[in-house]
Amino acid sequence: MIIVMKPKARQESIERIKNLIEENGLQAHISAGHEVTIIGVIGDKARLKEHNLAIYDEVDKIVDVTESYKLANKKFHPEPTIVKVGNVTIGGGTAVIMAGPCAVENRDQLLTTALEIKKYGAHILRGGAYKPRTSPYSFQGLEEEGLSYMKEAREITGLPVVCEVTSLEAIESAVKYVDMLQIGARNMQNFYLLKEAGKTGMPVLLKRGLSATIDEWLNAAEYIIAAGNPNVVLCERGIRTFETATRNTLDISAVPVIREKSHLPIIVDPSHAAGVRAYVKSLSMAAIAAGADGLMIETHPDPSKALSDGPQSLSFDQFEDMMAALKPLVELMGKKM
Ligand code: PEP
Ligand code: MN
Repeated sequence: MIIVMKPKARQESIERIKNLIEENGLQAHISAGHEVTIIGVIGDKARLKEHNLAIYDEVDKIVDVTESYKLANKKFHPEPTIVKVGNVTIGGGTAVIMAGPCAVENRDQLLTTALEIKKYGAHILRGGAYKPRTSPYSFQGLEEEGLSYMKEAREITGLPVVCEVTSLEAIESAVKYVDMLQIGARNMQNFYLLKEAGKTGMPVLLKRGLSATIDEWLNAAEYIIAAGNPNVVLCERGIRTFETATRNTLDISAVPVIREKSHLPIIVDPSHAAGVRAYVKSLSMAAIAAGADGLMIETHPDPSKALSDGPQSLSFDQFEDMMAALKPLVELMGKKM
């Protein structure tokens, strides 16, 4: 339930309502705008009788929210959230490009990639040091050694860095080295991990689960925000369907749907959606045209030798070509790149 106060409602009225909510064993989340203050009621609203609230004359309206996510809900927080990752802002007027290898393989591979993607205008370096692989025999990541290369790459290029975390130990290490934590598709409903990522207060890139509905995805975001961390960026990366021509099916409609339902920024990862490098450029353009706040693109110095996700990784020439094609489209969408 959301209580919308009348414009310029007095602080004492807001406090009185907050107390009433809390006396009934619920949580009140106050969002104070320039004109209007909105109070979100978190918990079982059956404990609160609407008529008890309606008697306050500075209450404008009481809106029932049927979705179980409140903190991630746009009804509750109409202003778009802007997430700061180092010196980069996601959700503002810039189409933020994150690029880098699927996995950090060695120092040279990562540093070369960082310099190249920066040259072509990327804003954030990605790289996996903990790889959740389908097979236990596939390369699992360099862990802390990989994180140290990420940190070094940031020192050299100035690009903020994002790395996936798959466990509490990974979070504890990653917070010392990176600027943003990524929760991958396979862990989208690892509620323990979501809460721990929430406790760090660091920006979190939350990928959509392989078979997750948008509602489940926003509830996952809710876990992070409810743990005290509002710095969540959503990432659509394709969902599993009957189609086999691509690795996953990019759900481009997730972009406008999220825009309508949530204030959180949303970016698109066409690499994991397509699974095939030839489709990455077109899907990137589609994502920008749909209004995404950015992209995540896998790139590798030699995709044919990549230890993971080579078939979907772009060479630097292909990355340059994609960035050039995106530029006029980003401008057409009224954004910067
Ligand atoms: C990745 O970003 O390399 C990755 C494993 O992505 P996803 O969780 O979307 O599969
Ligand atoms: Mn990958």
